[in-house]
Amino acid sequence: MMYPDAEFLVVGGGLAGALTVHQLRSADRQVVWIDRQFDHTATSTGAGIMNPITGRKFVYSWQFDRFFDRALEIYSILEKEPLPILHCLSIQKGLATPGDVNNWCLRLGTAPYDRYMREPELPTRYPFLNGCYQLGRIDPVFRVDMKQVVQAVCDKWGGPINGEMRSPRTAWINGQLLTMTNNQTVILATGAPIKDIQDVHLPLAPYQGQALLIHSAELPQDVIFHHKLKVVPYGNEIFWVGTFDRWDDRQEVPDAQGRQKLEDDLNAHFHISYTVIDHLSGIRPSSRTRRPFAGPLVGWENTYVINGLGTKGASLAPLVVDHLCRHLLSGEVIPEEFKQPTF
Ligand SMILES: Cc1cc2nc3c(=O)[nH]c(=O)nc-3n(C[C@H](O)[C@H](O)[C@H](O)COP(=O)(O)OP(=O)(O)OC[C@H]3O[C@@H](n4cnc5c(N)ncnc54)[C@H](O)[C@@H]3O)c2cc1C
Repeated sequence: MMYPDAEFLVVGGGLAGALTVHQLRSADRQVVWIDRQFDHTATSTGAGIMNPITGRKFVYSWQFDRFFDRALEIYSILEKEPLPILHCLSIQKGLATPGDVNNWCLRLGTAPYDRYMREPELPTRYPFLNGCYQLGRIDPVFRVDMKQVVQAVCDKWGGPINGEMRSPRTAWINGQLLTMTNNQTVILATGAPIKDIQDVHLPLAPYQGQALLIHSAELPQDVIFHHKLKVVPYGNEIFWVGTFDRWDDRQEVPDAQGRQKLEDDLNAHFHISYTVIDHLSGIRPSSRTRRPFAGPLVGWENTYVINGLGTKGASLAPLVVDHLCRHLLSGEVIPEEFKQPTF
């Protein structure tokens, strides 16, 4: 029998799986951690921006401050010099029309917007921007290096074993079939590919996002531009540029059409010289309710799921993982809003 002492099997080496392993191992519990080790995951692709103000109408992100406080806390704990996880930046949001400026100004001076949104300005400071009427600044905004979060957990507790979950209680590890006993707890933190696990049906609406990594010496290194595309500083004159989206999850790898569209949009809106150094893609694990969920997998004994982190995993994951782990470790009730949706 493989891993007879294991109390927990955590499946998934992305942000959700890594934070879950960290919480369980910090509580001195016996955990086996597996991942199918595929390059194109959401965690390895996403920019990790924790943005309090989102969408065309500049809406305050759902319960942002509640999630943000816990996120700052856990990422600060995991952060180790010289490899930072948290990067404090601001967003310059391109306001393309007078209507956008009006919508922006409607928010100014009211809580909680006044904490993050500043008066619009002319874009004269950034002459390389094309087609930008005015700029609205969101400040402060943090970028989370999600890959570094996973790395920090691996450094502290050891990385995941190469293995693939095929059904909610059985995995293939090194060519051997592992079946969990009834008293061993399985936690599925597999993001969008959960659909490939036999007999698991969740109300997900995942979609692919592609992004470029570019090198450019002509952009500031402390500002995220959101002008048609997001251009996000990664340090050392490297920038993440995204996204090109496909509204399904049939394709996991990046493709030529995505790269062309990203370069076309970048050339149209940013007059800069650059070289492309990588082309990324991942599937966002969005739920149909656009809310994250965590708790028992309906229909399965001793099997739990955390999913639905969607486009906001960096801010949502720490608190959702906390609730799941507190439930597993001390029986605390998971708040109703994180219950698995049933449609
Ligand atoms: C283009 C793009 C941009 C994004 N930008 C942002 C952003 O700016 N801010 C933000 O907060 N979020 C952003 N996100 C979303 C964020 O990346 C996700 O919410 C988060 O990474 C989800 O983490 P996860 O662990 O649930 O899933 P994943 O990162 O997908 O991890 C799941 C892991 O499980 C493994 N796995 C899957 N199936 C199996 C199996 N059967 N057996 C074993 N292992 C398995 C996979 O290999 C993977 O390692 C973005 C995502 C994309 C794609």
